[in-house]
Amino acid sequence: MSEKVGFIGLGIMGQGMTHNLLKAGVDLTVWNRTRSKAESIVTAGAQWADTPAALAHQCDIIITCVSDTPDVEAVILGEDGVLAGIKAGALVIDMSTISPHATREIAAKLAEKGAHMLDAPISGGSEGAAKGTLSIMVGGDVVQFDRAMPFFQAMGKAITHVGEQGAGQMVKLVNQVLVVITGLAVSEAMVFAQAGSLDLEKTLAAVSQGAAGSWMLSNRGPQMIQRDWRPGFTIDLQQKDLRLVLEAADQMGVPALGTSLVFNLYRTLQQQGLGSEGNHALVKALEHLSGFRVGDGV
Ligand code: NAP
Repeated sequence: MSEKVGFIGLGIMGQGMTHNLLKAGVDLTVWNRTRSKAESIVTAGAQWADTPAALAHQCDIIITCVSDTPDVEAVILGEDGVLAGIKAGALVIDMSTISPHATREIAAKLAEKGAHMLDAPISGGSEGAAKGTLSIMVGGDVVQFDRAMPFFQAMGKAITHVGEQGAGQMVKLVNQVLVVITGLAVSEAMVFAQAGSLDLEKTLAAVSQGAAGSWMLSNRGPQMIQRDWRPGFTIDLQQKDLRLVLEAADQMGVPALGTSLVFNLYRTLQQQGLGSEGNHALVKALEHLSGFRVGDGV
């Protein structure tokens, strides 16, 4: 892998991803808004750049993994951003979850400088980032996808080219529609079982392997009945993704009834100060409506 890689955004996901790139022998330069978070990766052998522009000037491939749409715009289009330093022929890969529409606008600005862009959002949580087992859904030019593949393989396992620029972000939003509506189904089922005075563990065991089975039921159902609200993915970040789904649905003129219901249920939990809890705490919104408390008596 002879191309030089720059990585912007050393949060929960970026930490694991950068360590896996280094382990694969990548020549790596990093930048993070809060410099102290770069200590571990610099100690491990990465170089530090003082600004995103300086990083872009030194690198052939620039990866971003920051929180939300305005944050990607800040590090790419802002003062001293990637756009200010990028070389013609360079490739920007955005692995954050952001607006598909904004993705295409950012790509157009990069294209004016002769640079390429892929959107490559991820699924698999902090554990997948650390283990290098992320699912990566990629939108953009196939030649650039092939160019990026060795770097994707250092960070992930299921790597899928899904279409043109913005398609990666759209598929990630599809993923989130499925995740939250399945989460609502699990929540409603657990409150229903509680109201029926059922043994919740036996109920889970009875229904998990049949037609009602799902990752959410098997992994988050037990956490719900144990009232373990530690986050794999926080309500606040989940809510950001649902806002992106609803914005895209509005732009396309398509109803998103289930997603808007879950969006509003999460909003009630955020208003109660629960935004940093895991997304399976969705069940608490139904508990508040019903008066039943899942796991009482377990
Ligand atoms: P995180 O731990 O909160 O880290 C966010 C990163 O973005 C930090 O490096 C932060 O810098 C940087 N950042 C935020 N706003 C910025 C700005 N305006 N300018 C410059 N840097 C900025 O988040 P994460 O969990 O790593 O998530 C990153 C992305 O991956 C998000 O889009 C998220 O939806 C997505 N994702 C997360 C998961 C998950 O399970 N965590 C799974 C799949 C996808 P500072 O260090 O200075 O704050």
